[in-house]
Amino acid sequence: MNISHIEHLGIAVKSIEACLPYYEQVLGLKCYNIEVVEDQKVKTAFLKVGQTKIELLEPTSEESTIAKFIEKKGEGIHHIAFAVPDVAEALAEVESKGVQLIDKVPRGGAEGLNIAFLHPKSTCSVLTEFCDNK
Ligand code: ZN
Repeated sequence: MNISHIEHLGIAVKSIEACLPYYEQVLGLKCYNIEVVEDQKVKTAFLKVGQTKIELLEPTSEESTIAKFIEKKGEGIHHIAFAVPDVAEALAEVESKGVQLIDKVPRGGAEGLNIAFLHPKSTCSVLTEFCDNK
């Protein structure tokens, strides 16, 4: 495993519009992209903190896993994403170490990244994502 850095932190919010003033006006970060990821039924907003991003996730449908997360746990940190050189290789490695996967193969995420999620059952309850930008 060769994790280079935390690529982003995913934070579930009910409304990006309502939360952006905190991140931009209070913390002084800058939102540089807002994007809807249709297959995940979320709207995402990205802010940079050094090499790491904060990804605000707003559900666009009641069916969204983010909507279900907020319903169950409230708004807050949803997942941590690690940058790896190759998502498929990283998945194979952790699977060989007994980690349960949500995504057996990488899929396309926001910003053109290849992403895959590991199951929280195997990650001390923190939903964990790998991403690369191959
Ligand atoms: Zn993510």
